This record gives sequence, structure tokens and C-alpha cells, in this order.
Amino acid sequence: MKKPSLREFFNLLEKENKALRIKEEVSVKFEIPFITKKLEPYKAVMFEKVKEAKIPVVAGICGSRERICRALNINEEKLYDKILEALKNPLKTKIVEDGEVKEVKEKPNLKKFPILIHYNCDKYPYVTSAIISAKNPDNEEVENVSIHRLQVLDEKHLAIRIVPRHLYKLCQIAKDKGKNTLDIAISIGNHPAILLAASSPAPFGVSEFDVANRMLNGELKLIECENVNARAPANSEIIFEARILLNKLVEEGPFVDITGTYDAVRLQPLVEVVNVLRRNDCIYQALIPAGFEHKLLMGLAREAKIWEAVRNVVPTVKAVRLTDGGCGWLHVVISLKKQIEGDSKNAILAAFSAHPSVKHVIVVDEDIDVDNLSTVEWALATRFQADEDLIIIKNVRGSSLDPSAEQETGLTCKAGFDATIPLNKPKEKFEKAKIPENQKVKDILSKLNFKI
Ligand code: MN
Repeated sequence: MKKPSLREFFNLLEKENKALRIKEEVSVKFEIPFITKKLEPYKAVMFEKVKEAKIPVVAGICGSRERICRALNINEEKLYDKILEALKNPLKTKIVEDGEVKEVKEKPNLKKFPILIHYNCDKYPYVTSAIISAKNPDNEEVENVSIHRLQVLDEKHLAIRIVPRHLYKLCQIAKDKGKNTLDIAISIGNHPAILLAASSPAPFGVSEFDVANRMLNGELKLIECENVNARAPANSEIIFEARILLNKLVEEGPFVDITGTYDAVRLQPLVEVVNVLRRNDCIYQALIPAGFEHKLLMGLAREAKIWEAVRNVVPTVKAVRLTDGGCGWLHVVISLKKQIEGDSKNAILAAFSAHPSVKHVIVVDEDIDVDNLSTVEWALATRFQADEDLIIIKNVRGSSLDPSAEQETGLTCKAGFDATIPLNKPKEKFEKAKIPENQKVKDILSKLNFKI
């Protein structure tokens, strides 16, 4: 089997008719984002001819659950187990001397790369698919790997958005040691398992490379960078060897995040790229903010954690969804077989604790399909009474991305909607009536000249 990489996976998708190529010349400004966003739920795409650069762009690689499962070589029923198992049992990743990404070594010039400008009010190109790896200054054996948006300022400077999570903590540790910089590797063009692991909630101190390596059955290989003290995947397409300048802040934004709205403009650290490693015929990977791929990569591991947490309190949970309309991040729909009154409310509490960004949880019975939001709404309309079935929790910490929350303090109001049938009422009253079917009506319909 070939080593897991972005290009091998794209080739596989193409062979299976899950990816296509665009040969017309297209611009990084709006044109590539527009086409990718339209195609993303159906196909991954390669743009062979880019107006502004000689490097082709691959996009929408993880735009569907099906393609992510294909990358992990599993059926969808095994997806949560695969993610949870990798989070629980990270596998130490081997470090190798050489890798494809070292084919070309050159001085930084970010203008050479087809970095996209995505939305109407954007002022800067943004790198959105890069994984950032940094060693812990306290223990260099361990690194943190995470995805951060990078705003291109000039040939070798970027602004990086660092929310107060693990990379932020590493920056604080470096500062406490009296350092002005933190070395990082910015790797672009990676196998989906690496992106999925980098956006997963692994605890501090666990290298997300090792989580990815478990997902890839030990096949991930890393190299040590040459000009900075950081490790990166040996078969990435492109690596920017860089340093975060801890004391230099610049205005970061405007940028559209997972909600599809513009995030606040903030002062964020400056990054200086010191050197570039890349494959000879490198491919640039794009990822459309607020697209399906963004939501799935951010949400899937959280969905797995919510599923696990709900299963601990209600073993009869059937399905969990971070919905697309809920930005793949803020809304959860849970279906379950309620055994005792109160199970549904316990499920709501479990979901809030498993993923602190969740704002609204809807719990439905097992006859409701969590992927059919019209049916979920039908359950709210026919099985829910706000005075009995609504839980409201005021002034709790939520997502910094929700424009309706207090973005200064991070406080929000959360609500749980219990749209399950009360156990003390006759179930038949709440069941959807069906029209009986027989072979004759099926035959008549199948002969009609349109698809139902
Ligand atoms: Mn981490």
C-alpha cells in the first residue's frame, strides 16, 4: 500500500468518481472558492490552471462524511469508534531523515502560492488548510498540532488566529521562559486523517500527529524541520518553516468563520516564515471557510465525543448530529429510545458538557431521522411544550464565533429542547400516520417518467 498522502487520496477519489478536475483557468479570488463550495458535498476538485500561480489547487477533499470515511478506510458506523479509539490510544509517530516534502528548499515567497480570497468583504488572502505544529518548550518530545487560519500580509509574514487552547498555552510557556518567538511548522497539503486529528479535542500533552498515526495504522512519518525546531509530516505538499513573534501583534481579519458570518477583527500574533520546503510538483490545498469540509473537520470528533457522553447516561442513544444549519458546531440533534422520563434531559446535559460550544440541543425519539431536519422540526411542533420541555441555562461560556453571544466575555445562553413523547401519554397520539402501500401502487409509480 502507498504511503498516506493528499495526492494519493485524491487519485483514489478520482478513480472512484468522487473527484474531478477543472482545466479552465480560474482565479484564487472568489472563483475557486465559489466552484468548490458548489461541488463540495458531491466531489473533491482539482483546479489545474490557476491565474495567479503555477501551483494547482485541490479543494473539498473532506467535504462529505463518505469521503472522510473513505480516507479512514471504514464504514460510517465505525467512524466514531475509529476517532475515539485514536484519541484514547495515540501511537507514537516515527521520525525519518528524508521525505518528499524536502525535494525543494527555497527562500520564502508567499506570493508564489495560490492562496485564496474567499468572501465578498475579505481584504486578505488566507491559508485555511494548514496544520501548525509546535514543540512544547517545557518538553520537546511532545508537540501540539492544530489548525489555524493564517492571513497573508506580505512575502514572508502572516497573522495567525490563536484561540486560547493548546497552541496559545505553548506561546505562554515560551513567554514565561523569556522567549520572544515560538518555532512552528506550517504544513499544507496533507492526508485527511492529519487534518481530522489536528482538529480533534485531544488533551494537552498529546501530539495530534500520534492521534493521526493511530488512525493511519502507524503509517504516518515525520521529519525534523531544517531551519526551525519543529516536526512536520514527511509527505506534506508544502511546509513553511516559521516563527510566531510572540510580542508583535497585528490586526487579524476580516475573516468568515464556521458560522458563515464575519468574525471580529482582533490583535493577533505575527508569524515570520523563514524558509519553504515543498515537493517539486507541489499541490496547494484549499479549504473553504464555513463550507461542509470546515464543519465536518471541526465537528466530527466533537460529535463522537457527544455520542460517547450521551451513551454513558442513556445507553439507548441512536444517533447524534452537529447539524449543518447549526454551523456544524452550535446545534446538536440527538435521537434516542427513552426508557425513563428524564433520559432526554440527561442527554441534553451530557451534550452540553461534552462540547462546550454547543448552544442548542434538540432531543427526539428514535423514529425521527436526525439528518432530516424537517422531521426534527415536526417533532418540535407535535411533541414539545416549552413550559415543560425547555431547559434554559443563562450566562454560560459558549463559542466565541456566535455573533449573538457576548463576544467580549464569551458568555451565552444555552437551551435544550426535549421533543420526545411523554411516557405517560398514549404513544399512538404522536405517531405519524401512514398510507398503506401495495405492489400495484408501487408499479404505477415506477412507470412514471420522473424520479420521486
Ligand atoms: Mn492539542
